[in-house]
Amino acid sequence: MCRLCVKPTRREFCAGAMMAPLALGTPRGGLVEPSLRLEPSSISPGRIAVTLDACPGHFDPRVATALVTLGIPATIFITALWMEWNPGGLAYFMSHPEIFHLENHGALHLPPVLGNQRVYGLKVAGSLPVIRAEVLDGAAAVRAATGKQPSWYRGAAGLYSPETIPFIEALGFKIAGYSLNSDEGASLPAAITAKRLAAARDGEVTEGHINQPLRASGAGIAEGLAKLKAEGMQFTTL
Ligand SMILES: [Zn+2]
Repeated sequence: MCRLCVKPTRREFCAGAMMAPLALGTPRGGLVEPSLRLEPSSISPGRIAVTLDACPGHFDPRVATALVTLGIPATIFITALWMEWNPGGLAYFMSHPEIFHLENHGALHLPPVLGNQRVYGLKVAGSLPVIRAEVLDGAAAVRAATGKQPSWYRGAAGLYSPETIPFIEALGFKIAGYSLNSDEGASLPAAITAKRLAAARDGEVTEGHINQPLRASGAGIAEGLAKLKAEGMQFTTL
């Protein structure tokens, strides 16, 4: 059952039948970072959802082939820009539909943030009409590639102006938070990324990147996935 609870700094929401209602995290400078978890499972050692962002950038074969080799399904939050720049990578995703489930990461990778600020160096969308175009154009690109309407949206940088969340939900999308940030924007060394990802426990929705083949963190994602698989962790998509 869907539950909505608005508090001054936290809001809980139902993200779908299989997901636990979760908090919108601690505001950072007036922005919120939504948290999302799966409902607890009775599976041992547990079940998690791996999500990876294809922000503008390139195809990371270390991460992609690890998922395929290990047989781990993953939800890929993909931007229209990434699809335009990486037709070969997109073809790889489409050739393994049992592994790669594509969802909406926006058209131009503009954080759904109002005003004039920058977030992690990114120019923000700034206004609701621009956010609407970012979300709907991103969804149209996913639909063009997959033939299916995406149901989840994850904003660039994972941060939102609070008032943009009901606005995006009203456009027909669930907000894709996460509970475990494995690579801090693909900025962490491989060993640390692997350790963080491998620490995922039942119900976790993990976040990382699949668009930075030249950064060390991608090797850590592949290593962390292998460790989780070896310990018997089960995987699901959003
Ligand atoms: Zn991104």
